[in-house]
Amino acid sequence: MNKLAKLMESMTYEDLLLLQKDFERGNLHSILEKRIKERQANRITLCPVCSSPVKEGEGYHLQFGDPSLRKKATFDGIDCLQYFLTKIKK
Ligand SMILES: [Zn+2]
Repeated sequence: MNKLAKLMESMTYEDLLLLQKDFERGNLHSILEKRIKERQANRITLCPVCSSPVKEGEGYHLQFGDPSLRKKATFDGIDCLQYFLTKIKK
């Protein structure tokens, strides 16, 4: 919020009015959702076994831990997932 507040300080009065209109019409919400979805689609994580990059939505996922504190690991291949499971089993 600090960055947004600083950005607003540098905006002209007319730009602030336009921003207010966009806010009231819900345009800001839809722009935010769109940008977040774009970022998530391009997000890359690293396989915890071999450190290969894995694009969001690809690879194999394992969720574990307490339901209130779920952890998610993403693997690039089934062999890395299998290796990980074997390791934590021991
Ligand atoms: Zn891997």
